[in-house]
Amino acid sequence: MRLSSPLSPLGLFLAALAGGACAHASGDPGRAPHAIAAPAPPAWLDELARRYDGEYRALGLETRMFSPEQWWRVATPLLARDRGFTVAEAGRSAEGRPLRHVAWGEGATRVLLWSQMHGDESTASMALADLFRFLGEHPTHPLVERLRREATLHFLPVMNPDGAARFQRRNAQGIDINRDARALASPEARALKSLRDRVRPAFGFNLHDQRVGYRAGDSERGVAIALLAPPYDASGGVNPVRARAIEVAAVMRTALEPYIAGRIARWDDSFNPRAFGDLMTQWGTSTVLVESGGIEGDPQKQVLRKLNFLALAAALDAIASGSHAGTPQALYAGLPENGEVWPDLLIEGGVLAAPGVAEARVDLLVKFEHPLLGHGGEIADVGDLAGARARRVIDASGLFIVPIAGPGAAGAGASGSPPAPPPIGPGEPARFHLSRDPQGRDIVWTLAEDLDPAHRYPATVGERAGETLPPGF
Ligand SMILES: [Zn+2]
Repeated sequence: MRLSSPLSPLGLFLAALAGGACAHASGDPGRAPHAIAAPAPPAWLDELARRYDGEYRALGLETRMFSPEQWWRVATPLLARDRGFTVAEAGRSAEGRPLRHVAWGEGATRVLLWSQMHGDESTASMALADLFRFLGEHPTHPLVERLRREATLHFLPVMNPDGAARFQRRNAQGIDINRDARALASPEARALKSLRDRVRPAFGFNLHDQRVGYRAGDSERGVAIALLAPPYDASGGVNPVRARAIEVAAVMRTALEPYIAGRIARWDDSFNPRAFGDLMTQWGTSTVLVESGGIEGDPQKQVLRKLNFLALAAALDAIASGSHAGTPQALYAGLPENGEVWPDLLIEGGVLAAPGVAEARVDLLVKFEHPLLGHGGEIADVGDLAGARARRVIDASGLFIVPIAGPGAAGAGASGSPPAPPPIGPGEPARFHLSRDPQGRDIVWTLAEDLDPAHRYPATVGERAGETLPPGF
């Protein structure tokens, strides 16, 4: 069920007015056919972005894989009571790790933000630590004053700490917490539900990461951030609760547009009666799902973290001031949907030269456990893959694909025989040279499961259009 760009004549007029003054989106080939141009973001956002690295970024979270304990070591000093924070235990995880409820602010509009419900989706947790630093260390910033006066912010950060400890999606019971909003079988889901019932927030933010391979609509551009105002039932209708979420999502798009125009998408909006975003909306909380995807050249998602911080700041400001009201819903409805998921790496047209096997001309598809880092490579397919598309393509015509042995491979160091490379086939570790000779002596490029940062992709590979870091990063 799609939204059909519900837009009042006044909204259309305002959108046209604002769009005419904005250069960011004009002529962008990635826009959906009937999309309207995004208006300029709030004037203070640019200064927030400029000051971010020096004044707001929480130090000690420079890589995206961290333990929940490490996150709390960074966050706890930022959450002093004299900075306006309260921290209370909101439950325990399946393995007994504490779930903590952080609250800040004195205003009437209650907002609930929860992060890392999926343990390997850590981008927004880093951004929440930044938000804590911003709120606590800059009490006289006009935005902080406005938020304190008008809103009360409630947080359940890193709410799947057992999953986070293993950097895995599910909790220690094997439950996907975002499919547990109805059954409430996991203690983490129960903690979130009971916090929601106590706080009764008007607004909610459901903070996730999505697969790096998603394309924006039918374009070739990777999705940096996807947004969703989840439906409250299978009709896909828009009631006042969901309308407010759509407005807030539109505000977030406006804030992000100068940085990642054409790389913002809309998450699939079919109703899921087990998912928290959908049920939160049904329970009366205007909820926005934020899915951080990937930006090439940002392997630790530090750019995406900053974009999360900026988008949340803009959203919270709009909520506190009420300025989300009247934001054209078409700014949200006009976003391209999350499109195809592209695999990570395609080696096109090499000659496979594996020991003891006849040579063959093949294409090779590789997927990575950590796609932005190029770590944990595994063969996904081999053979005639003409027409396949991937985040990166290496033209291997004229080159041999020569499998190489891994550490501890059979035969290594034994009776002088060379170690045996793994077979080439789906599910096998991706270990091979691209070489000008079938013996693998004149090497052009090597993948040994993990991409060696000193051994970058060959020159035949270009960055996809629009995949570079946004301006100012
Ligand atoms: Zn998720």
